[in-house]
Amino acid sequence: MTIDAIRRCAGEVLEIRLRIAKPLAYRGGQFVTLIRRDDGLARPYSLASPADAEQLELHVRHYPDGAMSGWLASASPGTELELRGPYGECFYVDDDLDRPLLLVGTGTGLAPLYGIVRDALAAGHRGSITLLHGALRSADLYHRDELAALAAGHENLEVVASALEVEAGVDSVDSTPIDALALDRAALSDHDALRVYVCGAPALVSGLRRRLFIAGVPLRAILADAFLPAAGA
Ligand SMILES: Cc1cc2nc3c(=O)[nH]c(=O)nc-3n(C[C@H](O)[C@H](O)[C@H](O)COP(=O)(O)OP(=O)(O)OC[C@H]3O[C@@H](n4cnc5c(N)ncnc54)[C@H](O)[C@@H]3O)c2cc1C
Repeated sequence: MTIDAIRRCAGEVLEIRLRIAKPLAYRGGQFVTLIRRDDGLARPYSLASPADAEQLELHVRHYPDGAMSGWLASASPGTELELRGPYGECFYVDDDLDRPLLLVGTGTGLAPLYGIVRDALAAGHRGSITLLHGALRSADLYHRDELAALAAGHENLEVVASALEVEAGVDSVDSTPIDALALDRAALSDHDALRVYVCGAPALVSGLRRRLFIAGVPLRAILADAFLPAAGA
């Protein structure tokens, strides 16, 4: 598998496109393990591309002292990597096209949600789809134009950006904490039909899962991927 393109989005986020040698059957929102060829260093990353797309899309937060993300930040197109997977249960299921979907993610937690939302739209999902993307600072929000374009083309999709610190001149960013927004949105939905996806920072994922459950959302209706750091990191 080869890196096709790397682009720095807002803040510390890299969008990485990978060309795969043979077709990979996967769903948007699952994750793959990237393995560095020279020393076998391995890290999981979520698939932001829709199901079975030939080019895989990843969103990687660049930690300057991060073994994999630091290396990826300086890699160039043509670099070869190994890949294992796909893994995980956090993906769109077309069992009820009318159910409300709530997708909540912080930082690069948007990656799996971006894959899931595109799979849902491609499946002709009719129920409301609310995507909440949060960051500490509004400068760290990314893919805002892509998400706005997607929402403009689909009446049932609403995208809300949230940041605790909103820089002057930045429009349409809600300063309400993302977990509060998520609980408000969940309260407005039919709990028996609602399906929630929560991805990104482990503290958000575990905290929100618990609070949604206490608010009446069944645990089986909450699909989550916590971006846990590698052991020893
Ligand atoms: C199922 C799953 C899916 C994931 N999907 C994604 C994804 O789509 N995009 C993405 O960016 N990441 C994702 N991650 C996290 C990713 O696998 C790596 O842990 C992350 O990229 C850091 O790896 P690294 O080698 O660059 O840093 P490491 O060398 O492992 O860590 C070095 C330093 O980086 C910093 N650091 C690393 N991780 C964290 C953290 N979580 N919080 C705070 N500081 C940290 C710390 O300073 C740490 O000491 C996912 C994790 C899991 C388990």
